[in-house]
Order: sequence, then structure tokens, then C-alpha cells
Amino acid sequence: MDLIIGSHVSFSKNEQLLGSVKETISYGANTFMFYTGAPQNTNRLPIDDNLTNQGLELASENNIDYSKVIVHAPYIINLASDDSEKHNFAIKFLKEEIKRCEKLKIKNLVLHPGSHVKAGVDIGIENIINGLNEVFEYDSDVVVLIETMAGKGSECGKNIDEVKRIIDGVNNKNRIGICLDTCHLNDAGYDVSNFDDILDEFDRKIGIEKIKCIHINDSKNIIGSHKDRHENIGLGTIGFDTLINIIYNKRLEDIPKILETPYVTRNDDEKERAYPPYKFEIDMIKNKKINNNLIEDIRNYYK
Ligand code: FE
Ligand code: FE
Ligand code: ZN
Repeated sequence: MDLIIGSHVSFSKNEQLLGSVKETISYGANTFMFYTGAPQNTNRLPIDDNLTNQGLELASENNIDYSKVIVHAPYIINLASDDSEKHNFAIKFLKEEIKRCEKLKIKNLVLHPGSHVKAGVDIGIENIINGLNEVFEYDSDVVVLIETMAGKGSECGKNIDEVKRIIDGVNNKNRIGICLDTCHLNDAGYDVSNFDDILDEFDRKIGIEKIKCIHINDSKNIIGSHKDRHENIGLGTIGFDTLINIIYNKRLEDIPKILETPYVTRNDDEKERAYPPYKFEIDMIKNKKINNNLIEDIRNYYK
């Protein structure tokens, strides 16, 4: 089976899914993930069926298995919140997002479980479970993938046991899955260089078949730092060889691998991140060979 590799891509106002597929192809990828609007807000435009159909057609002409494509929910919705207004807003938004996924023919929706703020992890997890059960009263084939988190601030879902508690509490297990993130696992304290041990623990406690997506990111910080700052492939504390071993792990073969690494600045003095790294990172991954000139190659290509 071919490697299923892609990245986060944009979903623009004018081209919507068609634009996302074009961007995917420009990176030499065969899968992708997108937000249905800006990740940091909940303003969402209506889905244009025409652009969706054109996108689906272009995807199938380019060997993209659309059944594996991922939507990511905005990270500001917080099911864990003990503030009922915020909690209820998250439920309402998530139901609408599932309907948008249906319109886009998307099966898998990634969700950050949420932050308990000061309510404590037990109450946070209870709020997440109740919220998901309410969301799942709307019947759908869309599966919500709980992402494993770095444990920054008061994030819930920072280890396998917390993710297991959430899944155990959900009534309809067909509606729930897991999304791993290599940077988050590292920052949460897992040694990702022994990835089979992590997968064994997931399998024992939850079932490896629940893992439907993996985010491939290097990390700017050391193991257990609880920071959640992604780094470009090979330039962080996880390193190229370890990431390659995870990407090519046989047990993850049919799972989409999604890069969420940071854009690159135009030069060393600039702050604004202008250039996507994905074409070049995907190249390194396909060749299983590190490019020691990664940042310069990206700058030269896009300038
Ligand atoms: Fe995420
Ligand atoms: Fe992620
Ligand atoms: Zn992250």
C-alpha cells in the first residue's frame, strides 16, 4: 500500500474544496486536512456544492482517497468548559460542523477535547462526555476523532488514560475515534522513539483500530514540556529518523499522516511566516532522506 501523506491545507472563500485539492496536489500529497473556515474563529460560510463536486472530481483524478480526508474543528470551541454558555456553544457548533462535513462528504472530524480551565480534569472530562453524547443525538456517519493533547494549561486528553475515559463515556462508540499527534505526545511526556510501546498501550486500553489519523510534527520543546509548539520535520527535538519510523510503521499503514508544521519566514530577520514547507517535507519523507538545506530550498522555491 502507498504511503498516505499530506498536510493541513487552506479552505478559501472563493475556491473552497476545489482550492484545497489544488493545494494538496501542489505539495505532491495524496491526502489532506482542512478547517472549514479560520481555525481560530467560528465564522463559517455556506458550502458551495459546485466547488465540492469539482474538488471531489479533481481528487479522484489525482489518486486522493477522499474517504481518508480530514476536517479539523476550530480549536476555540471548548466542550470541557464548565461555563454553560461556552459548553453549549461548542455543542451547537460541533453539530453544525458535522452537517458541513456531511455536505463535503467528509467522514472524519478531528476535535481538541478542550480545557477545563479551573474546574479540574474530572469535571472537564465529564463535560466533554456529556457534550459529545448530546452532539451524537444528531445521527450521522461522521466520526469525531479526539486528538491527544500536549497538556498545555488545563488541556484534557493529555494522556492515553484521559482519552480512554472520554471514549468510555460516549454511548455510541461508532461515532468516536482517535487522532494522534507526534508533537503533542512528545510534549505530554511520551517517548515517541518507542512508538510501538505507545501503540501497544493504546491497543490494550482502547483498541488500535480507533486511531484514524496521525499528525506528524517535530517539536520545538523537550519531552514532557507540555508546550505544544510544532517544528519543521527534522529540525526539532524528535528528529527525522524517529518521525520516519513512525510514518512507516506497518501498524499505521492505512492511516493518513498529516503535517501541521510551521510555515517558513522569507528570511531570518522576518517574523511573518509566508511559505508552506509541505512540498519539501513530503519529498524528504518519500525519499526517507533528510534535506539539510530544507529552509533555504523552501525560500528559493517560493520567492
Ligand atoms: Fe489539532
Ligand atoms: Fe495536531
Ligand atoms: Zn499542536
